[in-house]
Amino acid sequence: MAEARTRQFRAETRKVLNILTHSLYTNREIFLRELLSNASDALEKVRFLQSKGESVRDADLPLEIRITLDKDNKTLCVSDTGVGMTEEEMIENLGTIAKSGSEQFLKDMEKEAPQKASAEADNKTEGSEDEDRLTPDDAQPSDASRIIGHFGVGFYSVFMVADKVEVTSVSALGDGSAHVWASDGSGTFTIRALSPEEAKDLKRGTTVKASIREDATEFLEKFRIESVIRRHSNFLPFPILIDGERFNTTPALWREPKFSITREQYNDFYRYLTYDSKPPLDVIHLSVDAPVQFTTLIFIPDSEQDLFREQRDEWGLDLYVRRVLIAKDNRDLIPNYLAFLKGVVDTEDLPLNISRETLQENVVLRKISQTIVRQVLAHLERMAKNDKEKYAAFWKLHGKYFKFAFNDFVHRDRVAPLMRFATTWDGGEKGENELTSFDEYLSRMKPDQKNIWYIAAPSREAALLNPHFERFRRKGIEALILTEAVDEFALEGLGKYKDHEFKSVEQATSADLDAFPDVEEAAPKAAPLEAEDKESFDKLVARMKEILGDQVKDVRVSDRLAGSPALLASEDGVSSSMEKFMRVMQKDDSIPKKILELNPDHPLLRAMLRIFKADPDNTLLDSMTRNLFDNTLLLDGYLNDPYAMAERSLKLMGEAAGWYADLRKL
Ligand code: ADP
Ligand code: MG
Repeated sequence: MAEARTRQFRAETRKVLNILTHSLYTNREIFLRELLSNASDALEKVRFLQSKGESVRDADLPLEIRITLDKDNKTLCVSDTGVGMTEEEMIENLGTIAKSGSEQFLKDMEKEAPQKASAEADNKTEGSEDEDRLTPDDAQPSDASRIIGHFGVGFYSVFMVADKVEVTSVSALGDGSAHVWASDGSGTFTIRALSPEEAKDLKRGTTVKASIREDATEFLEKFRIESVIRRHSNFLPFPILIDGERFNTTPALWREPKFSITREQYNDFYRYLTYDSKPPLDVIHLSVDAPVQFTTLIFIPDSEQDLFREQRDEWGLDLYVRRVLIAKDNRDLIPNYLAFLKGVVDTEDLPLNISRETLQENVVLRKISQTIVRQVLAHLERMAKNDKEKYAAFWKLHGKYFKFAFNDFVHRDRVAPLMRFATTWDGGEKGENELTSFDEYLSRMKPDQKNIWYIAAPSREAALLNPHFERFRRKGIEALILTEAVDEFALEGLGKYKDHEFKSVEQATSADLDAFPDVEEAAPKAAPLEAEDKESFDKLVARMKEILGDQVKDVRVSDRLAGSPALLASEDGVSSSMEKFMRVMQKDDSIPKKILELNPDHPLLRAMLRIFKADPDNTLLDSMTRNLFDNTLLLDGYLNDPYAMAERSLKLMGEAAGWYADLRKL
């Protein structure tokens, strides 16, 4: 018998193992889901090889999974007739976790159970014998169900219920030799080659033998195992036998006739597919015959996706050809703006032996994708019309991806009406936070209004306070509020909607607005400046320009302000949110030089004028000018140094309070 060689797990792997073995989790049962999904993956690989006509060991072996429970020896075995692993593959696949995967896992665990995960990750991560065990009292059981299974750490979840694990495997592509991998989940594992005598009855595939921990003996009960499978693995595409008895699963649900499928089954399948604990928001189940034949089962998740960051590589639909899984997460099946969709596509019209590399240029695939896009858009159109609440929920979760549809020139006329934006409109009877469609905006537009106006702002409050919006408010003209960087690109990309061009309120000229009467009473206007005062005001403006120096391009008198003392304008017509976005892209955090426009009728500037006339060099003018400028920066989202402003404000307030007290003889 060959010697077993002992090896060390890599540091990242040890960290993950340490957390899994020493923390308490609700949902430990998902270890079985992970073992079964690995078995199923291994079987898919054999089926795929065979479909391509490649020869595999024990070609006649049925593709199936066997679970064996042994209460006397306290072991649970999961065996499959899948591709198996060679010695090298065992070392590589079971001894290491991709570094990125384990880091992501640890980070997510931290989110799930902050105190615990960090305590354990920081502490003894060397897998030594004397690690601190967390007792049930100081640990909140947390739900590892969603996190495990991502990031390639699924196999290790078996150590949540086992104190020893042995994996025996014979590769479908090897020479028939068998190896046993063993570990107790601490710092090391061993690998041993079986002698020809020991291996002679072994066939292709893998057996995972878990020695069940004292506190997990429930997993030696058949009924318990059955309920776990029903809950998590009910749609596995291969037969499962428990202690020799067939357990009925529902493979290829998408091939069943629609009317025979319950909502419950759809939900279960969705959970099986995504590990999402929330049922999907909506289901789209289609059978298409022309121009290509395919069946698809697509879900709109009811939970937030994270496709810009952590899950950015985890989208696409699973592609089956005649029930054989050809590619997981295939991205040629949907455009990126539908990346939030989950689901499967199964077609008869592709050859089984298609190589994954040539899928991309495949005409059949392109046709399937086009049909899916049309069908999903039609579905969303119906939802927007018939179930506004659901549509709002959809938009809240996935709108940030869907907005990228401005890129889809073919479907532009269909995607634009589906977009939603916040608005300065007070929402009539519906309340303030209602989003609006372009069509709704048009329905409220002023007669003769040409443009669809927008304003970039972090919130509705900020939009309403923005001095650029002041004239619009006075005239009762609505503007869309763009809250995300992509919004402006989307509008820019679309250009116009039904002949109404999109335009930023920052770029509004008098010609755009003068024709519309005021609907709001303007703030009582101060008497116009006398000719002599006008001259002084021009000097004050020059003085303020001197104070601000090269922080501004210019300081000017404005004719577009009423209630606000000042605003920042840019000359070249790029609106500030676009500018901000470009600056982020260029990693530029300097403050752009703009033109400070002043309202000569505002009480603040009138008071400053009085000070200036009496004492042109008064230092109070300095701090007031700087604070006024910082205020406008703040409203436009550019203020990088709030501390100087805070300090100046305090000083000004202190002085003002003193004067007030003196004046009132308090
Ligand atoms: P993932 O399944 O996400 O890759 P796991 O931790 O579940 O991560 O499994 C790690 C790897 O171990 C798998 O990718 C696979 O290569 C190998 N493996 C695990 N179980 C089996 C099995 N039953 N048959 C063949 N290979 C397996
Ligand atoms: Mg796995």
